Amino acid sequence: MDRVRAAAPQLAGLAPYDPKYVPADAVMSANENPLDVGEDVRRDIERAIRKVSLNRYPDPLANELRDMIAEANGLERDWVLVGNGGDELLFDTALAWGGPGRTFLNLPPTFSVYAANARLTNTAVVDVPRGGAPDFAIDEEAVLAAVGGEGVAGGASGAGAVGGPVDFTIIASPNNPTGLRASQEFMQRLLSATDALVVADEAYFEFSRMTSRPLLEANRNLVLLRTFSKAFSLAGVRLGYILAHPDVIEEYLKVRQPYSVDAVSQAIGRVVYESRAKFEPGIRSIIEERDRVTEALKVIPGVRPYPSDSNWVLFSVEDAAEAWEHLYGRGILVRDFSNAPLLEGTLRVTIGTPGQNDAFLSALRDFCLRKRD
Ligand SMILES: *Cc1c(COP(=O)(O)O)cnc(C)c1O
Repeated sequence: MDRVRAAAPQLAGLAPYDPKYVPADAVMSANENPLDVGEDVRRDIERAIRKVSLNRYPDPLANELRDMIAEANGLERDWVLVGNGGDELLFDTALAWGGPGRTFLNLPPTFSVYAANARLTNTAVVDVPRGGAPDFAIDEEAVLAAVGGEGVAGGASGAGAVGGPVDFTIIASPNNPTGLRASQEFMQRLLSATDALVVADEAYFEFSRMTSRPLLEANRNLVLLRTFSKAFSLAGVRLGYILAHPDVIEEYLKVRQPYSVDAVSQAIGRVVYESRAKFEPGIRSIIEERDRVTEALKVIPGVRPYPSDSNWVLFSVEDAAEAWEHLYGRGILVRDFSNAPLLEGTLRVTIGTPGQNDAFLSALRDFCLRKRD
């Protein structure tokens, strides 16, 4: 056949996820840890991998790793599910709680993967936009109104959406790419206001030192999402997990790919999770550097940094797209949000090593001073 039938209609106009990665001396664009795992941890990883049976399917549920995560969080095994990165668990969320006739409440600007997953699964999307700079604060009353109502007036978009009652929402805390976390009081109010599934995306909670974990037992509709990709330097390995009531985990089990977490990743995850105290100095240094970079950005003419609880700083700069080019020309890759809705004129820099941060600041300073001449 010289032609092919059209793919599913929800794919029309959808662009594949693009991390906008290009090679650079200082990669400060994807919120990764600037440091790889240490030599001692790497040696333990190599030893652990040597013992993995490559000819056998992995434990579908990664139970050994699951038990370690459960114990560290004061929970039983059936409250934990490990996934192929947090991204897989986000997709599973849309499969299990979304679908035709169902509604996802989104709080843009936020992680673009949430809305993309909703579109892929024919889930209607209702937007309650955040306030503007500098805080990009959640419109708490509007969110509570949206989940409280039977059906939502207006704002619905996506596949044949009319906007029924909200079935699930995802609150990134801290929110990527804006930076601040949601308040504990708001999370509690939201969880009490609705039986919709509320996913607290805590991919960066190690940098904000705040978690909704204390709310877990009392709220069956709460899911905490975590990842090994950021604080634990394992973006290349693909491991994430959720903590939730066993009834909720049970629904995820129905939609997940049985062998999505391979045996090598499970072995690496066990070593790194066991060694997680070793990552603490690196996390502390990133938090200190974040505050130093924010202060330094404040005194560059034409630059306005926004407060962050995470491992990046979002900032406005005059001629942002041109500033991105200038930084890239100096070997520094940051993330360009200058044309993204609700984020116009901004760039996001992931906190790197002190040397990378200095190189970034100096290149941006040069760009801005030249503009002023
Ligand atoms: C990085 C990230 C994740 C998870 O990433 P994985 O590498 O798939 O574990 C989840 N949510 C947000 C907001 C992120 O930035």
